[in-house]
Amino acid sequence: MTKTFDIAVFQGDGIGPEITAPTVSILKTLAAASDDYGLNFIDAPAGAAHYRDTGTSFPDASMAIATNADAILLSAMGLPDVRYPDGTEISPQIDLRKRLGLFAGVRPVTVRTGQTTPLNLPANKEIDFVLIRESTEGLFHTQGCGEVSADEARETLLITREVSEKLFRFAFQLAHGRKAAGRGSGRVTCVDKANVFRAFAFFREMFDAEAKNHPDLTADHAYVDATALWMVQKPWEFDVLVTENMFGDILSDLGAGLMGGLGLAPSADIGLNNAVFQPCHGSAPDIAGQGVANPFAMILSAAMMLEWLGTSHKIAALSRDAARLRTAVEHVVADESTLTRDLGGTAGTEAAAKAVLNAVLT
Ligand code: ATP
Ligand code: MG
Repeated sequence: MTKTFDIAVFQGDGIGPEITAPTVSILKTLAAASDDYGLNFIDAPAGAAHYRDTGTSFPDASMAIATNADAILLSAMGLPDVRYPDGTEISPQIDLRKRLGLFAGVRPVTVRTGQTTPLNLPANKEIDFVLIRESTEGLFHTQGCGEVSADEARETLLITREVSEKLFRFAFQLAHGRKAAGRGSGRVTCVDKANVFRAFAFFREMFDAEAKNHPDLTADHAYVDATALWMVQKPWEFDVLVTENMFGDILSDLGAGLMGGLGLAPSADIGLNNAVFQPCHGSAPDIAGQGVANPFAMILSAAMMLEWLGTSHKIAALSRDAARLRTAVEHVVADESTLTRDLGGTAGTEAAAKAVLNAVLT
């Protein structure tokens, strides 16, 4: 019997709906052509525009759709001129991360031959690594609630055994999956600052303990400062990097920079039972409604979703379609005529997405 997956779709704010529609349409085409799986899309209203129009940013019904779905596809939420009365930003994606316990922020960094990068890559080198950012604790633990007096401010760095063990198990599993797919060298690097902070020595101990369960993979450590240097000097040597929340926040922007910006940067926030897939960029209100937004990061996030569903449910057709979709985007991005404005081209959202669909179908 073919399994049909429920996908919660958060169209979000700004350019969100413009990049969501063609992405869902590509996914529907792939699913319709497959005998091995089905996809059922359920719209979940939420976000800043929803708050402006209804007084609620994240309706309970939308949270229920997300909680019950097999996976969640989200574009971007938030608008600069719509805020809660206390001035804080409207970001239902953070509520989702907390509510669903999405502890692993997954940020793939890929630069294929011919793709624009600010690095001067040797001709025979491509970049293909994944950064995993712990997303629920670390230096973001006291987020917004640090202690501040007139003369002093303190924040807490929290590392727990429970979350770290889940995080490292996930990292090694991801490395196994990549190795099996012929990507990556089967190397997992724990990025920390264990020479200075006892919390990171603790983090590292748990990493080493998990590594013992994976003798067929290479496990090593790197300090975060050295990692920043190597991401620029020899990024092709990395496979899977796993790190604390704040370090991951910073390194993932560096990773997006290596890819030539946010335009091609997908991401996933993964927990034990659910996951959110969304582009790294924001809602880009400055270009919303003009039909010029770049849909590639959103489409690549959808490919990550297929990959995750395929791995979690052991359905090879989903993993194959994920690879097809990724390859299609790589193909389209290598052709100047279908690049969007942010990538130096002139194509609109519709033309760019159509090119991906055509590449998928051929
Ligand atoms: P957030 O706080 O939600 O991350 P941000 O302030 O970082 O948002 P973005 O919304 O990511 O900002 O936009 C930053 C710049 O990048 C803007 O000029 C925007 O137009 C551009 N941009 C972002 N995403 C896209 C996209 N998909 N296509 C084209 N341009 C984009
Ligand atoms: Mg931003």
